[in-house]
Amino acid sequence: MKTINCREAGFDCDYVVKGETEEEVMKNGGEHAMKVHGMKEEDLTPEMTQKIRGLIRSS
Ligand SMILES: [Zn+2]
Repeated sequence: MKTINCREAGFDCDYVVKGETEEEVMKNGGEHAMKVHGMKEEDLTPEMTQKIRGLIRSS
């Protein structure tokens, strides 16, 4: 299981994004950020994606 703590991504949010794979957790994280935090597709820049990818934890 891969997880990302939304708070570590810079949001004031206790949500933990989960996925079976790195790709899945990134996809779920993108959906969460857009739905809950009002981010747009164009806000998910390569830099942002890179930063978020570095926050992924494996368990
Ligand atoms: Zn969040």
